[in-house]
Amino acid sequence: MSVSKCTRLSGALVKQLLDSVDSILFDCDGVIWRGDQAIPGAPQVINLLKENGKRVFFVTNNSTKSRKMYADKMTALGFDVTEDEVFGTAYCCAMYLKTVCKLEGKVYLIGSNAMRQELEAVGIQQTGVGPDHICGKPIDWANVPLDPEVKAVVVGFDEHFSYMKVNRAMQYLTQQGCLFVGTNRDTRLPLEGGKAVPGTGCLLQAVETAAQREAQTVGKPNHFMFDCVASQFGVKADRCLMVGDRLDTDILLGSNCGLKTLLTLTGVSTVADAEAHQKSGCPERQGMVPDYYVESIADLLPALQG
Ligand code: PLP
Ligand code: CA
Repeated sequence: MSVSKCTRLSGALVKQLLDSVDSILFDCDGVIWRGDQAIPGAPQVINLLKENGKRVFFVTNNSTKSRKMYADKMTALGFDVTEDEVFGTAYCCAMYLKTVCKLEGKVYLIGSNAMRQELEAVGIQQTGVGPDHICGKPIDWANVPLDPEVKAVVVGFDEHFSYMKVNRAMQYLTQQGCLFVGTNRDTRLPLEGGKAVPGTGCLLQAVETAAQREAQTVGKPNHFMFDCVASQFGVKADRCLMVGDRLDTDILLGSNCGLKTLLTLTGVSTVADAEAHQKSGCPERQGMVPDYYVESIADLLPALQG
């Protein structure tokens, strides 16, 4: 199919694109749901794609849920999904430490209970998760010795993020050989009505600044999440489509991995954002220009029902 980039996907082009792929990776927030509500038509699209023989996977930078938690949420929203189709950063981070870093030792974790669960599921113990208070009294970390078994600091989304946690992470990171891994760098998480809250990127940058080191991140746009899907399911990049609402994470991941890319306008990025990258003429920004865009993934429905 030879069409120029950032083309509106409609009519016969939808079926042509779907025929050209076997697997589809969907970003979650802003693509198949917003917060706790499914995007109208999204469950039907996903379920029909599967009925039509496509393999469907879900890739999210949100580290606050385990694979099981996502599968439960999606099932409740009407999606036909199994746990092994879900690739969140909590799970992928654990896989990264186990398979790429071959970590022998514990993690100092700034993150969620879901991250603790995914680490434990691959046999990695952690210390640090939860509030740094016991029975309402702050823990005097200055007098708690460092755990000599800790060989990595991991930063994900942590609702109990604190000065003391940054301090603790810094102490570990200044030790020889301590690994430094972050889940993702999303700096802002959009809410309804144009509002936003700080994302994991803000927490990670605080730790990086203190430790004067740069973390390795596993989330989009790093290719590791695609590598996880590809190695487990034998997905071929040139027969795969990435669908997302963010140019700097989802679309860039797709471009980095040689996938076809589709921007949906139900989330963060706009067509104007994509065109600005395209028109800049800047080679580094071309990876953020999608091949196609749709208003919503519900626009795929007619081609699937026909
Ligand atoms: N990180 C956190 C903590 C979030 O709550 C969200 C969205 O809700 C994200 C990242 C972005 O998730 P996604 O990659 O599914 O858009
Ligand atoms: Ca998203």
